[in-house]
Amino acid sequence: MIVRTVSAMTRITESASCLQQMQRRTLKASIETGKYILVQRDQIENSSSNKTMKFPSVWLRDNCCCDQCFHQSSKSRRINWDHFDTEVEATDIKVDSNAQQVIIKWSDEHVSRYDLKWLNEREFCDERRQKYLDEFYRPKTKHWAGAEFREITKTFKFQDVMQTDDVLRQWLEALAISGVAIIEDAPLEKSVVRQLADRVGFIRRTTYGEEFIVQSKPGAKNYAYLSEPLPLHTDLPYYEYKPSVNILHCLVQSKSEGGSNLLVDGFHIADRLRYEYPTDFRVLTETLVDWNDIGSEDGRSFHNIWRAPVICLDSDGNYTRINHSIPQRDSHFSVPLHAVLPWYQAYAKFVRLARRDAFAFKTKPGDVLTFNNIRLLHGRTGYDDTEHNVRYIVGAYLDWDIIYSRLRVLKTAQAESVNDSSATGKATT
Ligand SMILES: [Zn+2]
Repeated sequence: MIVRTVSAMTRITESASCLQQMQRRTLKASIETGKYILVQRDQIENSSSNKTMKFPSVWLRDNCCCDQCFHQSSKSRRINWDHFDTEVEATDIKVDSNAQQVIIKWSDEHVSRYDLKWLNEREFCDERRQKYLDEFYRPKTKHWAGAEFREITKTFKFQDVMQTDDVLRQWLEALAISGVAIIEDAPLEKSVVRQLADRVGFIRRTTYGEEFIVQSKPGAKNYAYLSEPLPLHTDLPYYEYKPSVNILHCLVQSKSEGGSNLLVDGFHIADRLRYEYPTDFRVLTETLVDWNDIGSEDGRSFHNIWRAPVICLDSDGNYTRINHSIPQRDSHFSVPLHAVLPWYQAYAKFVRLARRDAFAFKTKPGDVLTFNNIRLLHGRTGYDDTEHNVRYIVGAYLDWDIIYSRLRVLKTAQAESVNDSSATGKATT
């Protein structure tokens, strides 16, 4: 291994504040065989962060931040990839300790400057990548058993969510982590779900429209409108792009014994199957099930089908989606004959575990129950739907793309305002 240290170690002392003096840094950078760059940030007072970061040259060249290579206002790469040299090597390197920058000259004669902060945030070590994935990409989920429902479910006031960005962020974060959150004290108006959706982004429209009403409707086309018990299910498993989050606003609650919501963390049930019944788990992750919905709404006929396992995994084995609906499962089961019986055995286990774990609770008028439809199963106990005993819920969906985006924007704005206030603090000391 050839290591060339091009620049001498430079030590700078920032005198603006005591805090900065604590963080006196030396910055070193070197080329390792042209294909890799080593950057060492040496924090004198804190030896634990004294470590060398290693970056591939090709990645650095690809991500040059200059105006020629990167369009600043759209934050987009504009480097010409038709002529991009994947064998590019660094030919010279220096550091600017005052600006905390690393300056690299490349074999294509281009010169790039990289801020140390920018490099820090993109370090390739496991710890940094995991932190980015768990905290910024998508908050790390915490799975829960039904008995833990009360402790894991956070509640927020409607007005706080609508008026305070920090509460909005907390609500969305709770939804991402636990998959459920309750918003209380919403006005008893049909527009509440739209107001909440607009606060995040916009409503996800489905075959059933934007807002939908859940109440007992004689002659209903959809099973959810009956006052019979509603078995556990996820909504719209027959969509390839399944709506992500349910927002259910309770305007009138049945005074009968029934009408309780049932909720189960599908990821927790999947965890249990994975460890207690690994063969069934594998069957439920591998067998494609035909989910369907046939009907008409507002005079338009539809026929939706999507084939997917009950438990969907990504290439790392993380859950990406749970599908479960007895009514919305097609009689077409497009799998080889030998796959049918094992699937029924495994699915029955999943359904039984979920039913036993379900937590029952009743929302009151003004409550908005929000939960992750990709992950949680929901249902409802039956209720006596007479003329004087009605239940009236307005619902809408949101998509995770829109929610995660909003969450990142809120987090970035919050981090920037913390930086701004600490910069102001420094100026006044
Ligand atoms: Zn450039």
